[in-house]
Amino acid sequence: MNLVVVSNRVARAKTNEPMTGGLAAALLPLVESSGAIWVGSSGQILEDSSADAFATIETLGKGALALLDLPAAHYGGYYEGFANSALWPALHSRVDLIRTSQDDYESYREVNAFMARALLRFRNPETAFWVQDYHFLALGAELRALGTTHPIGFFLHTPWPAASVMRCVPHHRELIERMLAYDLVGFQTAADCDNFAGYLRTELGLAVKGGVVASPYGITRLATFPIGIDVDVFAAQAAKAALHPEVSRLRHSLEGKKLAIGVDRLDYSKGLVARVDAFDRMLALHPELKRKVSFLQIATPSRGTIEAYGALQDELARHVAEVNGRHGEVDWTPIRYLNKGFGQTVLAGFYRTAHVGVVTPFHDGMNLVAKEYVAAQNPQDPGVLVLSKFAGAANELDAALLINPHDTDAVARSIAAALTMPLTERRARWETMMRRLRTNTIHQWFSRFMAALADTRINDILVDVKQPVMPLQVRPGRGSAALH
Ligand code: UDP
Repeated sequence: MNLVVVSNRVARAKTNEPMTGGLAAALLPLVESSGAIWVGSSGQILEDSSADAFATIETLGKGALALLDLPAAHYGGYYEGFANSALWPALHSRVDLIRTSQDDYESYREVNAFMARALLRFRNPETAFWVQDYHFLALGAELRALGTTHPIGFFLHTPWPAASVMRCVPHHRELIERMLAYDLVGFQTAADCDNFAGYLRTELGLAVKGGVVASPYGITRLATFPIGIDVDVFAAQAAKAALHPEVSRLRHSLEGKKLAIGVDRLDYSKGLVARVDAFDRMLALHPELKRKVSFLQIATPSRGTIEAYGALQDELARHVAEVNGRHGEVDWTPIRYLNKGFGQTVLAGFYRTAHVGVVTPFHDGMNLVAKEYVAAQNPQDPGVLVLSKFAGAANELDAALLINPHDTDAVARSIAAALTMPLTERRARWETMMRRLRTNTIHQWFSRFMAALADTRINDILVDVKQPVMPLQVRPGRGSAALH
């Protein structure tokens, strides 16, 4: 099989550079080991649309990275516009933050079509395409419109909200109809998958039976594939990172005090302001913990040109300053707040140094930081994870201290409980979580998705395809190219 993976951005392979997010962290090792070609935006834009779109193609292990310059005229409308100011807020149930225009939508569709054309050069009879994330909801349909009959899978890294929320996205119906051009649509959790099926039922009048839906595009399967991490590699990296100078500096700076850590992109879905407020509350409820703990929050800047992100950065900085002003002393700063990114090795060392991992998003597809924090712990003396019920990771990491991030007092109490939890309980919880992580690594995620994609074509012929009544203007249907 010749696998072509597509995502908005392609991560660079240097381990000491910060990753651009969970997707990047997840895909690099897979490309290296599977021989896939990973195609995505180079982050540069193409002024001259007649020029060769590919800036570089570089090998990575057995695979390759293909970096594509996206068209300048549409990049802003596609990326900052429709993808990140309409879809992202809706997918994270923040419809109040939707800001978009008809031009944005058209640019989004143009970039999806541009990517489809660019992908054709990678097509051979054995090719399967695997499209990643909300930037490319319509890419499968564009590939079909170009006559592609190869298997095409799609995986959504974010949550999928209730139909009532998706209805707030302009052009939602047209976009979601087009998603049915995919052979397989994968989600992080069963709740996301159910919400998607609910939308198909209520908005498009389509029946989903046994995870299968029929449309004029053919059969589409819906399934859940929670993304994992490379647990043992990450654990080894964390153990080794103790010697890293930056990790040593952090450890020495603690002078025996405890450390709680949060690591997030600066994004409104991550619940950062509420988290700072909860730490504030904890210090008020437990004055005996003052001077005994510091909270390190790494908030990596992200999508800074979008108004909601700029506003969040200001609000968060203000809250941190207020808490430090209220509780701090000449020789103790309660919150250490950093607006920069770190490489994964250093992060692994930071996680292992911290006694508590604080992961409290309002909504999160999975949250890889939660899994990384657990994997990085010292088995003899593991830290405690405080985890939002609304992160996809909570399904597997239910031995964490699970909290509702909107309940400030409960988060405060949980952080305090984590800081004082006896070793036997810490170990029991950590061992349970490690067992779960090991049954669902990034490699298993990859193999399960690939097996399901191969299976869609085998089983299509067995399914009784009922043509739905559906106002679709469908372009060419799928054929039956072999996946293997
Ligand atoms: N990350 C990183 N450096 C940083 C901050 C984060 O490499 O300074 C990585 C982190 O290790 C994790 C990913 O970025 O692998 C974040 O993934 P997550 O699923 O937690 O959130 P996302 O950013 O995808 O919403």
